[in-house]
Amino acid sequence: MNRQLYNKLIFELSHKGRKGYELPKSGVESADLNDIPSSLLRKEPLHLPEVDEPTVVRHYTNMSTNNFGVDTGFYPLGSCTMKYNPKINDEIATAHAPADLHPSVPASMAQGALEAYWTLQKQLCEIAGMAEFTLNPFAGAHGELTGLMVIRAAHDAAGDTERDIVIVPDSAHGTNPASAAVAGLKVVEVKSMPDGTVDVEALSELVDKHGPKIAAMMMTNPNTLGIFESRIPEIAEMVHGAGGLMYYDGANLNPLVGVARPGDMGFDVMHINLHKTFSTPHGGGGPGSGPVGVRAGLEKFLPSPRVVRRDNGTYNIESPETALGSISATLGNYAVQLRALSYILSLGREGVKEVGPMATLPANYIKESLRDVYELPVDRVCKHEFVFDGLKDKSTGCTTLNVAKRLLDFGFHAPTIYFPLLFHESLMIEPTETESLETIDEFVKVMREIAREAAEEPDLLKNAPLVTPVRHPDDTKAALDPKITYFEL
Ligand SMILES: *Cc1c(COP(=O)(O)O)cnc(C)c1O
Repeated sequence: MNRQLYNKLIFELSHKGRKGYELPKSGVESADLNDIPSSLLRKEPLHLPEVDEPTVVRHYTNMSTNNFGVDTGFYPLGSCTMKYNPKINDEIATAHAPADLHPSVPASMAQGALEAYWTLQKQLCEIAGMAEFTLNPFAGAHGELTGLMVIRAAHDAAGDTERDIVIVPDSAHGTNPASAAVAGLKVVEVKSMPDGTVDVEALSELVDKHGPKIAAMMMTNPNTLGIFESRIPEIAEMVHGAGGLMYYDGANLNPLVGVARPGDMGFDVMHINLHKTFSTPHGGGGPGSGPVGVRAGLEKFLPSPRVVRRDNGTYNIESPETALGSISATLGNYAVQLRALSYILSLGREGVKEVGPMATLPANYIKESLRDVYELPVDRVCKHEFVFDGLKDKSTGCTTLNVAKRLLDFGFHAPTIYFPLLFHESLMIEPTETESLETIDEFVKVMREIAREAAEEPDLLKNAPLVTPVRHPDDTKAALDPKITYFEL
């Protein structure tokens, strides 16, 4: 079939007078245009495409399959948890009752919704080992900011107002130092060891140097290389000893769910990205949710409003005067929260315990299956993801970008590339817990085939992708000089 025809822009498919609809005759007379104030009249004719129905259907149906999505194939996007999410969670979140709920409806008329919110708070407390959660923040970075504001408020309340330093590992997600800066705190970087974990000796020197100024230390675990930070108790003792608090970046909680809890490791404040681990797909700037949890004693610093359960079993929205005030106009992104609740409830207690192990196993399986042809800079048991430093044989001139583009030809989304910045040719793979062994095996086979091509047909690899609808967009031009409208406005 010639899909090219329908892949043109809808405006290019337009023919004057074509239409794909038939409206019943109007029962009222048309208005006299003279009766409409001229300021309200359209000055230019409206540019709308005029297209017959089959053309519209084919155009948009074809377009929907030009894109890569997790519904069409494996999406091993490291540091992002682009896992397949069960459709039932979407259905529940977009059902009429929750979707039609007005954000300002009185608590008495939204008891079910508030119960859902409250239940998810409690579930996250149990999964993370925290005393209390707020679901109000809209994203991971928003959660970080909220968490750091909680930490500041707690220090201030204790009369400890000089603490303005946050220690952040050099391998941290870029949002960590950014959030600290927005919270009015100064960032001091702590180096990583060659295996990517925090250099505890270097940290010890920083703690000695900045002791009474330290507000918090932020840690990501598993860290950006997918390695479990095994010296957390020691680190926590050091930071707590200096009067600082421990912040846990739990954006990628997948490998820990049901296995280990930040609260048990000595963390005081944390955030979770519901739009990674808990069944909302992320990427493309869609709605997110970054709940913040705190250990016992810090609850009163959480932002308003709060959902509380009264003794008689009903629920209420309360807006206590807190040091932080509110960080969002509402109780957060409700549909994202509902997906998370549906995900946790449908897995059940036993199912939740399997998430972590099932996310970890395929990552190690892929790592071990490919390490003879891809460079493995950190050779340790990984958690849910790991990083290759490009192809093992660098003499072919084939780069991580070439490997990533070639994967598209085989129907796989590219992994995260050139992140983390610790290596030149980073290729970060996160298979997630939702893929079958057959899919994982096929991915391994294709990655090996690409390594063979690099050695035997490097030019083919350098020209990839060869069979995608769009082949070689100019990445730089797309970022710096995008043309996003058809008509010159
Ligand atoms: C994704 C991510 C974040 C930021 O989350 P957003 O919702 O994109 O703001 C923070 N830290 C880590 C480790 C992440 O992977």
